[in-house]
Amino acid sequence: MSNALVTVVDHPLIAAGLSILRARTTAPDVFRRHLQETSILLFAEASKNFATTPIEVETPLASCAGAVLARPIVLVPILRAGLGMLDGIQRVAPDAAIGHIGIYRDAETLRPVSYFERVPVNVAAAEILLLDPMLATGNSACEASSILKAQGARSIQFLCVLASPPGIEQFHREHPDIPIVTAAIDPELDDHGYIVPGLGDAGDRYFGTG
Ligand code: URA
Repeated sequence: MSNALVTVVDHPLIAAGLSILRARTTAPDVFRRHLQETSILLFAEASKNFATTPIEVETPLASCAGAVLARPIVLVPILRAGLGMLDGIQRVAPDAAIGHIGIYRDAETLRPVSYFERVPVNVAAAEILLLDPMLATGNSACEASSILKAQGARSIQFLCVLASPPGIEQFHREHPDIPIVTAAIDPELDDHGYIVPGLGDAGDRYFGTG
């Protein structure tokens, strides 16, 4: 499924990786690897229209046309689970600058509380990928996007592994200019704001703290 604002990436490697991420029996080391690899595939989709500048490349045999990215990339994981996506994407975008936004969800109100913000200075000129595996209520993504915009960010995409319909609705009510790229949309949230069927607590599963 794809519209201008939500892309559900339809790819066999993502479908297979997501099934491993979902399974309750998946061990933390395997979960880590597959979250990283799935994130790389999501990033490939998100970056497919990034502008490039033509360059001339000398191969060992001849010169030919090449390309470099026209704009810098900034990766911004929402702490803590977003770090799992960062670990993967950094492997294919090693030049990207990295920002961090720390947000926790108050267990009672489910409202986002920001406790850490450090964003590179060049966000206004950059392609920004905001990373969080779970778009559940949408509160953290909304808050992080507002923080980035307040720092001058203009071109932001939100990458997640799973999104919920209420999360998408809330996010695009507040940030209709930010496209979402996800591996799947799950039907509902439970009373604790967890995506169902989902994959559980992404941070706990990535860091082995569950
Ligand atoms: N955060 C998670 O880690 N999992 C969910 O299902 C929702 C929010």
